[in-house]
Amino acid sequence: MIPDGNLLGRWLDALSSQLELPPEVTLKAGTWENGSDFPDERYPCAILADSSDQTVCVFVGGDPTAEDALVRLAGELQDDLAMRSWGTPVPQCPGHPHPLRPTTVQGAAVWTCPQDPERHTHPIL
Ligand SMILES: [Zn+2]
Repeated sequence: MIPDGNLLGRWLDALSSQLELPPEVTLKAGTWENGSDFPDERYPCAILADSSDQTVCVFVGGDPTAEDALVRLAGELQDDLAMRSWGTPVPQCPGHPHPLRPTTVQGAAVWTCPQDPERHTHPIL
């Protein structure tokens, strides 16, 4: 599943606010290329960068469904931001010290409490 520019833009807007990006960090859509001139080997990606040129490019074209792609993207961005912030839990689980975990529930992409999904789960979009 390869998201088009509009869908990827919606994902990045939602994740930018939910992951509470620090002011020095930017998240934008880009293109991943496999060092090739063939158009079918170019795919959308999410580029997370800051002023120190610590850049991460998350490829978003290889998941079976849009929900799987969004969950994987959310998790990879969350992991990278946790390293940049020395482990600050974002988004934080309400009432718990840990971060919410992105996953799919009945086909929907959600943030959920890793200890007790019944306690807190809400849609990513
Ligand atoms: Zn929790």
